[in-house]
Amino acid sequence: MSEPDIPVSQPRAWVEINLPNLIKNLAFAREISSCKIMAVVKAGAYGHGLEEISKTLEENEIAFLGVANIGEARRIREAGVSTPIYLLGASWDGEREEIVARNITPCISTVAEASAFNDIAKRRGVRLAVHLAVDTGMGRGGFLPEELPEKWAQLVNLESLIIEGIASHLSSSDEDEAFTFLQISAFEAAIESLGGLERFKWRHLSNSGGILGFPQGNCNLARPGLLLYGVSPIPSYQQKLHCVMSLKSRVTLVRTLPAGASVSYGRSFVTTKPTRVATIGIGYGDGYPRHVSGKGAEVLIRGKRHKLIGRVTMDQVMVALPDDSDVSVGDEVELFGPNISAREVATFADTITWEIFTGITPRVQRVYLRSSNEIAF
Ligand SMILES: *Cc1c(COP(=O)(O)O)cnc(C)c1O
Repeated sequence: MSEPDIPVSQPRAWVEINLPNLIKNLAFAREISSCKIMAVVKAGAYGHGLEEISKTLEENEIAFLGVANIGEARRIREAGVSTPIYLLGASWDGEREEIVARNITPCISTVAEASAFNDIAKRRGVRLAVHLAVDTGMGRGGFLPEELPEKWAQLVNLESLIIEGIASHLSSSDEDEAFTFLQISAFEAAIESLGGLERFKWRHLSNSGGILGFPQGNCNLARPGLLLYGVSPIPSYQQKLHCVMSLKSRVTLVRTLPAGASVSYGRSFVTTKPTRVATIGIGYGDGYPRHVSGKGAEVLIRGKRHKLIGRVTMDQVMVALPDDSDVSVGDEVELFGPNISAREVATFADTITWEIFTGITPRVQRVYLRSSNEIAF
């Protein structure tokens, strides 16, 4: 609640979400896969904001939104979005009643799961669309290909289910080409073993890496996540994508420290000469990874890169400035965005871009840019 006489400050750490660029990446996913799109919006649309991103994607006519759990599905429905929603992983008993009541499409890994959904659907007097999951090498869920024909005989008797799709998931599409090709052929063989393409309205296998690096085989639906958000898991495609999320903050202090002054917890950085030091209002409490400490990570201020010094603290980081620097208090800082890629930060933090995006905490305000020349503040 804002009180009338108290001014509201700008946030000191925020992300700018460029929606036109999200749409460009969606168009690219469509073009390169020649498939309909299930846009993966799990984990708050990879930190970009579940409701806002789902609404924007719905305006662009996607076939499905892919989520991790019923809680995410509920939030999407409560935001007024009516695009079909698919659950990317297995669900347990306590979630099924709501899944059926909301007509969310689950994937099925066992006959027991399928029967449980069938019973609920029957009791509620509805038929539930489901997709069969096939485990071609992810080991996280799905029927093993060799057991499928036998299980299929049991599944088709479940009259309150409509087996509308078949799916698998690539475990190594950005790491192991040979294994990915094996998964693609195992998936094709699984579909053949159940009577061929015509049995399934939807056939889907590819994540971003699969879409970019591999043929889509007999699929007609693709499940991009990361690539929609502007990052290619396969670096050679990076220039085809457009940056969606920029993490920003401001310089809160500029000081000159004498030679021999230590900076941040543990005193891992000590000045060797008098040094101009800028303090910036963001830290690991915002999701900027503490693990980049001491690795040479840089931030952008006034169009120039500056190295972090000392450890990342919960709410603040420090950078060293050249002696002639014109950096001053209030300057905008890009932690990642169009000039410093999230992948670069992930590499310094010894992790993956997915984790950087999903790690941005609720304290960081999401600001949505709706046209390409809009600025946040
Ligand atoms: C997360 C996920 C995706 C999207 O993966 P990206 O690598 O981000 O494109 C696709 N399918 C499934 C089953 C997933 O869990």
